[in-house]
Amino acid sequence: MLFLVGDFQVDLLIKNGTLVDNAGLYPGNLGIVDGKIAIIFHGDKGYSADKVIDATGKLIFPGIIDSHVHFQLQDLGKIISTDSFASGSKAAAFGGVTTFIDFADQTRGESPLKGFQNRRQTADGHVAIDYSLHVSKTDLEYLDEIPTLIQEGVTSFKFFTTYSWRKLDLTDGQLVSFFQEVRKQRGFVVGHCENDSMVQYYRNQLISDNKTDPIFHAHSRPHLVEEEAMQRVILFARRTGVHLHLAHITTKQGSDLLAQAKSENLRISGETCPHYLLLNEKAYTSPEGYLNLMSPPLRHTKDQQALINHLRIATIDQIVTDHCEFSRKSKGEGKLPFNKVLNGIPGIETSLPLIHDLLVNSKKITYPQLIQMMSSNPAKLFGLYPQKGSLQIGADADLVIFDPLMSQRISPQILHYEIDWNPYTNFQVTGWPITTILRGEILCDNGKFVGQPNGGVFLKREHLNYVKS
Ligand SMILES: [Zn+2]
Repeated sequence: MLFLVGDFQVDLLIKNGTLVDNAGLYPGNLGIVDGKIAIIFHGDKGYSADKVIDATGKLIFPGIIDSHVHFQLQDLGKIISTDSFASGSKAAAFGGVTTFIDFADQTRGESPLKGFQNRRQTADGHVAIDYSLHVSKTDLEYLDEIPTLIQEGVTSFKFFTTYSWRKLDLTDGQLVSFFQEVRKQRGFVVGHCENDSMVQYYRNQLISDNKTDPIFHAHSRPHLVEEEAMQRVILFARRTGVHLHLAHITTKQGSDLLAQAKSENLRISGETCPHYLLLNEKAYTSPEGYLNLMSPPLRHTKDQQALINHLRIATIDQIVTDHCEFSRKSKGEGKLPFNKVLNGIPGIETSLPLIHDLLVNSKKITYPQLIQMMSSNPAKLFGLYPQKGSLQIGADADLVIFDPLMSQRISPQILHYEIDWNPYTNFQVTGWPITTILRGEILCDNGKFVGQPNGGVFLKREHLNYVKS
């Protein structure tokens, strides 16, 4: 980090705070010019500013980057989730998130480029924070569009090993061809890894035995479902040389596989979500257990401990939310068998304070580790660093002013989603984002939205550099 002293006119000055990035904590003042971080300095002289924020006692983080988000989720062309890009991105801003990466899903047989353009059309001009897109491939048609998509700023291509009943999965043969092509074009793949045939087998068995309560959702996708699929795609990645990013790891076994692959120097990375750390299978047995259905499902306490340990030792690189918001009504109000309930829970607004409370307040990780997991690592992997995810001079002034001592009880009433429930209701946390700044503009301040509701822009992402090839 560079410290300068001297006369300097800035648009916005944040003074007396403690700056936190992926490398350390530094007391200092930060000045912003034209939306960029322009100066960082000690002391009390040599500057003038249009606006000054006194951040005494507060921490200043680079904006949080949530690289796995589903706003305004569509299924077969119909919007099925409760939020829009507008409402979701605004809620995200309240949570200190300044960049999100959503998905453009290819409909089988159709052009992924068209899917990407449609998704951009839906989001552009409606987002409060900056965003980008992954493209999900659901068949091998139009593989020749990958280079164009990469030119358009998409570097990451999602695949599913399950959801055959929704025509989303790629078969093993298709996966290998897909990996080869993405590798050739120097993109990388992001995998939702669950064994499709096991999921179908267990699910059919449970339903035919009339075991339809929410807990049986977890039983229908046991640990082996994740472990087998991850092991298989790691093998395919090993043989094709593509960089593989494992989405939402939930099990001890899955995180152990990631650790092993990393120890063998494979090009691999992985993420987990706050709900896999904070909630477990018990959440399915509460009266409103149906609300907590997502895939992969919640696990056991020993998995929670293993995931936390693998975050601590940097096996798991990132925390993302897989945010996907549904109303009670769209989740069936508890009247549906588990296999008919829409999968997904909200998370983007609460991830920073929850993870801070769970891991930093308990001293399991340090502040720089928090920034690595939630800002700089996703920025690096997804080709946005150092423009995003850093406090370097010249970087976008995407910042969170965080009060590490503010105590907050989470409830739907204090959050900004479109729903009246939250999986973390009554969780008490210490530490809360106070002010969120996007490219120098204050978006949220002390619980009020004060910025442009549509000031976010699409971010073209950089090519992954296969240094080791
Ligand atoms: Zn997802």
